Amino acid sequence: MSDQTIPRVRPGLPSGPLTLNGELRFRGLLEKLPAGAYTCDPHGLITYFNQHAVQLWGRSPRLNDPVDRFCGSFKLYALDGSPISHDQCWMALALKNSLEYNGHEIIIERPDGQRCTTLAYANPISDETGRLVGAVNVLVDISDRKRAEDALKEADRSKNEFLATLAHELRNPLAPIRAAVKILELKAKVTPDSRAALEVIDRQTRQMARLIDDLLDIARITSNKLELRKERIQLREVFNMAVETSRPLIDQRGQKLTVKTPAQPIYLDGDVVRLAQVVSNLLNNAAKYTERGGQIWLTAARRGHDAIVTVRDTGIGIPRESLPRIFEMFTQADRSSYQSSGGLGIGLTLVKRLVQMHGGNIMAHSEGTGKGSEFSLALPMMDRPPRVKAKRVKQVTGSDSGRGTPCRILVVDDNRDSAESLGLLLELLGNEVRVVHDGLTAVRIADEFQPRVVLMDIGLPSLNGYDAARQIRQQPSGAQAVLIAVTGWGQEVDRQCSRDAGFDHHLVKPLDPDTLTTLLASFQSVTV
Ligand code: ADP
Repeated sequence: MSDQTIPRVRPGLPSGPLTLNGELRFRGLLEKLPAGAYTCDPHGLITYFNQHAVQLWGRSPRLNDPVDRFCGSFKLYALDGSPISHDQCWMALALKNSLEYNGHEIIIERPDGQRCTTLAYANPISDETGRLVGAVNVLVDISDRKRAEDALKEADRSKNEFLATLAHELRNPLAPIRAAVKILELKAKVTPDSRAALEVIDRQTRQMARLIDDLLDIARITSNKLELRKERIQLREVFNMAVETSRPLIDQRGQKLTVKTPAQPIYLDGDVVRLAQVVSNLLNNAAKYTERGGQIWLTAARRGHDAIVTVRDTGIGIPRESLPRIFEMFTQADRSSYQSSGGLGIGLTLVKRLVQMHGGNIMAHSEGTGKGSEFSLALPMMDRPPRVKAKRVKQVTGSDSGRGTPCRILVVDDNRDSAESLGLLLELLGNEVRVVHDGLTAVRIADEFQPRVVLMDIGLPSLNGYDAARQIRQQPSGAQAVLIAVTGWGQEVDRQCSRDAGFDHHLVKPLDPDTLTTLLASFQSVTV
């Protein structure tokens, strides 16, 4: 059949001088599409639609009817739920601007109120002279995919929430266990056997606290709640802190650690504690996955504007096929031929996220199983030293640094094990201690006992820790007392709440007995 020119406006077809053959082919194609499709004339009047479009819209619009200009659906919404008028839909824009709008999401509401999310592909149609003769819009229903994505997101959110709660709950029992170990060390005559057993408990609870902290950090990062305390620092400080943390494990495994840094200091803008966590995570892994007596190198170098930190070992290496996924959460390289070294498979995920939060990146390299591993991270370098040297509290690891001048201490915690063990520990260190388990009693006892120091949990029955602190501050002796919040929550917003309530210090559970005794000693000596 020869092509013949058809009238400009015909019901059911895009207007313009399409040939009949061309028009039939065009329409045949749209009929076969596994998606909704319709056409409009240059004025937006619908000239054709297929059956899929009817299913999507939940109705059949009338052709060439100004009531259904641009779109046959009942109502339209953007992804954020805000309504979109028909003259702003993708079809209308394609006609108005003579532009293609492909793959844009839009929500269609049917007359029965049901909504479906679609991808719109709106394209203008021009004749051979370039004159706009209409437009075609193809609508792909992605509601099922969207529902599956939403369900996945929800499951991921629940998982993160569960991990955060789990980590939080697991942390609490650690404080009394560690305090109890300290009590036994201080109290009885400890035989060498029991001392060894106490050291095992102490080491293992420290390790457990580290794993739980990693879990908490991951939960915080995935919900964008982890805050960095950035300042101008020297890379050397990061190395010192990391090596101090990892040294016991490396020594225990009889490995040799070589640290190399350039003579000229390297300056970074970063959170020294978090960067030290990154490097010590890598060092710990190197120690874990390297044979006894193996070698580990920690080096720093300059490359362009970056500081390059490398942790290399002579250990079991990483199989080539595991390398691409090594930084993904819960990934552990296939260890079928090796003894499992424990761990949760989140350390490297945490490392990568922390490095990225510092504007850097990290790469893993290994020649394969048995050939050692190398982790290199690049961090943006700064050219100037810090203006004022930041003062940092030194982490003291000595065991009896709390034996300062005795003082009156009130311990408030509704977890009885935590409260009693902490109270006993403080008594053994020579202090006069009272222990209570709720906020109202804390306020009453504070008035009678007139403590020099109050160690107070926040989530308390009868009166929460913030309100109890406020009331204690109102008491004649309360104004002088040192109020210390002891809580599971350690973000800036939590610290601010403590400050606002009148606390002088904010310690995060599980309380490290050494940190606490150091803190107590610091202000005891000031006041004597
Ligand atoms: P974990 O050590 O808790 O399993 P990580 O996220 O720290 O979790 O590490 C993920 C995996 O990467 C480990 O299980 C291990 O298989 C591999 N890995 C990490 N560091 C090294 C290393 N230095 N040498 C060999 N394998 C390593």
